[in-house]
Amino acid sequence: MMRLLLIGPPGAGKGTQASKLSEVFGIPAISTGDIFRENVKNQTPLGLEAKSFMDSGAYVPDSLTNKLVRDRLKNPDCANGFLLDGYPRTADQVDELDSILKETNGSLEAVIQLTADSDEVVKRLARRAIEQGRSDDTEDVIRNRMAVYEKQTAPLITMYAARGSLIMVDGLGEIDEVTSRIKEALNAKNQS
Ligand code: ADP
Repeated sequence: MMRLLLIGPPGAGKGTQASKLSEVFGIPAISTGDIFRENVKNQTPLGLEAKSFMDSGAYVPDSLTNKLVRDRLKNPDCANGFLLDGYPRTADQVDELDSILKETNGSLEAVIQLTADSDEVVKRLARRAIEQGRSDDTEDVIRNRMAVYEKQTAPLITMYAARGSLIMVDGLGEIDEVTSRIKEALNAKNQS
């Protein structure tokens, strides 16, 4: 069983590592950001509600996000575990995830914090803006997303560290190098 969270600032490379780890462990990588973007693209009711928040770099309200994750985790493909990328991001989302886990008698194997300094993050996001044309990768919105992350999500790291769940991994370097670091850190944690 492998239930993992991936936490880190915008641009730390969570999405890239999530798909790598999904392959390594044979578990689905669930990105709330991807799910929201897919809904925006298809103009679903959820997408229409989420769009204005996303475009300004704000978080989508917890009520919407929590419901989405609760439903997604019921999917049979989560039977052997899952990797949540970009959830939880608020204290309220942590509470929701705690209660979902409690209802299924499950617990997290680890919370992976992917670190990256802000200069590098801004550089990566600027590159991605050109490559992918994401509507929230403009300079103003990037700055807002980073501020929202510092205020609402960074404190969760302290909390997971206090619970003994946290592993911290440097997100700078080659993609495969970072994946290896994560695998090693998980092994080390399992043995401790
Ligand atoms: P990044 O990590 O680069 O900010 P994501 O793709 O994870 O990118 O998220 C993009 C946007 O989707 C966020 O700025 C936010 O509006 C919304 N979003 C994603 N995950 C959550 C979440 N857990 N809670 C609230 N909003 C979220």
